[in-house]
Amino acid sequence: MRQQIAAANWKMNLTYKQGKTLLDEILNSQIILEPHKKVIFAVPFPYLRMARKKVKERENYAVSAQNCHQLKSGAYTGEVSAEMIHSMSVGYVVIGHSERRAYFNEDDSLLAEKVNIALDNHLAPIFCCGESLPIREAGTQNDFVAQQLKNSLFHLPAEQMQKIIIAYEPIWAIGTGKTASSQQAQDMHAWLRSVIAKQYGQPLADNISILYGGSVKGSNAAEIFAQPDVDGGLVGGASLNSEEFATIIKALK
Ligand code: PEP
Repeated sequence: MRQQIAAANWKMNLTYKQGKTLLDEILNSQIILEPHKKVIFAVPFPYLRMARKKVKERENYAVSAQNCHQLKSGAYTGEVSAEMIHSMSVGYVVIGHSERRAYFNEDDSLLAEKVNIALDNHLAPIFCCGESLPIREAGTQNDFVAQQLKNSLFHLPAEQMQKIIIAYEPIWAIGTGKTASSQQAQDMHAWLRSVIAKQYGQPLADNISILYGGSVKGSNAAEIFAQPDVDGGLVGGASLNSEEFATIIKALK
């Protein structure tokens, strides 16, 4: 079975103490994760070490960075490299979140560079894609999101591509309280899987986890995750509340 993943994206929220408490509350809720399930906490850079320490002994819990620079090292004050992240025993990095695309002008070709440097440094990219509301209203979302994958991922050889986790996050659903219907999520996920299958073959496509992101909450997670091509979620707001996020973890199939 494909990996089913609940990934928390804390964004630029929580003090260090609040972050520690939140992790303790979730880890202490003693949720049993079967081997095909994983929980990943994408925390701010200064909290990576603390979060990594807390999840270290816990089977199937992991930590992710929320971004990395596209270059190996150098005079880029304030930036963090993939090698630095890996050197802290962190295994994942979120790449291409719509907030970074919108506020930091990250385009598909820059994201391809970030994907490459992440993989070169043994980080599994959680690659975000998704359309804006005008694109959804024009009905061209399938072509748009497929093009995002082609531009940023399809240069990868199969052995690298199989390490990617995809997060489909319609921009109109992020932080808006407006969730895609479970059918809309399923339709897009099945489409993306077919696009990957065309490029890399069905077995590889069948093994790639495609997460849904956009106002996932405790109350809607089970219905969305139950869709056959939805392999869990990337969760922003609701991941900041331990009870909500615990409910979301329990909704993994
Ligand atoms: C996100 O940040 O990736 C996200 C999906 O946010 P939210 O759950 O708050 O919509």
